Amino acid sequence: MCGIVGYIGNKNAYPILIKGLKRLEYRGYDSAGVALLNSKNELNIYKTKGKVSDLENFVADKDCSGTVGIAHTRWATHGEPNKINAHPHCSNSKNIALIHNGIIENYADLKEKLIQKGIEFKSDTDTEIIVHLIEYLLQKHNTNLLSAVQLALSSVVGAYAIAVLDKNNPDTIIAARKSSPLVVGIGEDEFFIASDASPIVEYTKKVIYLDNEEIACIRRGEEIKFINLKNIEVQHEIQEVLLDIGQLEKGGYAHFMLKEIFEQPACINNCMKGRVNVAHDNIKLSAVIDYQEKLVNAKRIIILACGTSWHSGLIGKYLLETYCQIPVEVEYASEFRYRNSVVGENDVVIAISQSGETADTLAAIELAKAKGAFIFGICNAVGSSIPRATHTGAYIHVGPEIGVASTKAFSGQVTVLAMLAMALGRSKNTISEKDYFEIIQELANIPQKMEKVLQLNEEIADLAKIFTYAKNFIYLGRGYCFPVALEGALKLKEISYIHAEGYPAAEMKHGPIALIDDEMPVVFIATNNALYEKVVSNMQEVKARKGRIIAIISEGDTKLNDIADFCIEVPQTLECLEPLITTIPLQLMAYHIAVCKGKNVDQPRNLAKSVTVE
Ligand code: GLU
Repeated sequence: MCGIVGYIGNKNAYPILIKGLKRLEYRGYDSAGVALLNSKNELNIYKTKGKVSDLENFVADKDCSGTVGIAHTRWATHGEPNKINAHPHCSNSKNIALIHNGIIENYADLKEKLIQKGIEFKSDTDTEIIVHLIEYLLQKHNTNLLSAVQLALSSVVGAYAIAVLDKNNPDTIIAARKSSPLVVGIGEDEFFIASDASPIVEYTKKVIYLDNEEIACIRRGEEIKFINLKNIEVQHEIQEVLLDIGQLEKGGYAHFMLKEIFEQPACINNCMKGRVNVAHDNIKLSAVIDYQEKLVNAKRIIILACGTSWHSGLIGKYLLETYCQIPVEVEYASEFRYRNSVVGENDVVIAISQSGETADTLAAIELAKAKGAFIFGICNAVGSSIPRATHTGAYIHVGPEIGVASTKAFSGQVTVLAMLAMALGRSKNTISEKDYFEIIQELANIPQKMEKVLQLNEEIADLAKIFTYAKNFIYLGRGYCFPVALEGALKLKEISYIHAEGYPAAEMKHGPIALIDDEMPVVFIATNNALYEKVVSNMQEVKARKGRIIAIISEGDTKLNDIADFCIEVPQTLECLEPLITTIPLQLMAYHIAVCKGKNVDQPRNLAKSVTVE
């Protein structure tokens, strides 16, 4: 949530900052702002409500010169999204500007104290206290900027990634983080800071990821100094980001979401590369080889996740229980962390997060780790906080996901979970040879079958036109396709703002059936699997109440033509891999309905991609 960019070097900072903000706009987009120090040492701060493009229009006739600057795109937590609350925030002397990602939990107390000292506040944000506190401490202790930032951060409680610009230190940016992400880019005589590497990669591949409670003192023409809140200097190795610019562009598609839906076959191939070996009939996950004993001896697995990742976790439960015979609980990270969760040394925790920065998941990991559990991470963003906080894990390798509604990351997570269940089941001898070999063969066929589903795009776009003005939707599935129903409903809610709920098909009778009438679209995932007949019975129950049925069915199934109003035929696959096939038409349907409604598909209202606040 919220994007942070900073630049110091010999180029004009403004174009680099704006381009960077656009790359980070998926993280928040309710307001944006920039602070620049020009050659006359004037600090210019410009902010607007709305998108980065609104900021660009606003500054068109303003002085945007300067080779040092910081910029921000906001996802409001405290105070409505307006110009005053937009970042950067400025100290009373107007010497210091600050941007922030996160939440300062004790801001009200600190604000009260600062007001008593005569400091005036302009915004409703929690952020503003940090900039005033820095200036207050600077004056009170007659100290330097770095020490004042260090002192200020020692008194705040909460999560932050910040960047500070000061007129009295015109060749310096101070950046720091705790719980919210921050990366520093090292170029030729120039430095960058950002919430993730995407604004940096076109200038340099060399980066350093800050750890919690660390401050980077970035001075023009000098080496960066890293120091923590305990005043200990820390050393960091420079890392190389493997991200290519093409992955950050729309590549001819109307939206990132559509591009990402269409990328799924290639992504899944990439995810399985070097792991699924069809010729030798085996699956190798290095984490399972390196930590075999720990994983094989797990008495229980707890999957921690939020949102779409929680849905893939549910599919993971079905896979791991079936093929590894280990009891699995799937928990919302936000619930797990705030109750007396029973977790111990015999437990393996699998933490799933696309961004690797999800605040609740990260906190839940720390809690489980402290109680002795072994932590396995499943993430997409390489080098992010969760992979660094876990004992081991597997990246999903689907490339940057920019559309706020997750699509290819879901498929990647399910693929990794399927590979994990296979590798672990094989090590434990809990999977039959027949199942193991069959699933390996079929995993290799999935990308091709996904391509076939994607050919239904036009057909689904036509169907979407019929349902554009529906007020509600119900999604039903059983077994492995129950989480698919949840995910289909979530996609629709996220981007089209239509109220939608997913249920296990049999649960419908216990309540939701009361909602069904001739205006209620009901999406069934009704592919040919062991539960097919049961799902068909549920479909009959909806039909009897005149619900409008859209059915995702297996190719060649003609039995449902009379029951369902609309059928979408997808290639048949093994039951445990069906989510990889059946989710795609639901992603496309949500996408096209949102487009028909004229909604901003890539940046749906109120949402942001990387949920770095709890
Ligand atoms: N809490 C801050 C605000 O509401 C920052 C939110 C964010 O991370 O975007 O302004």
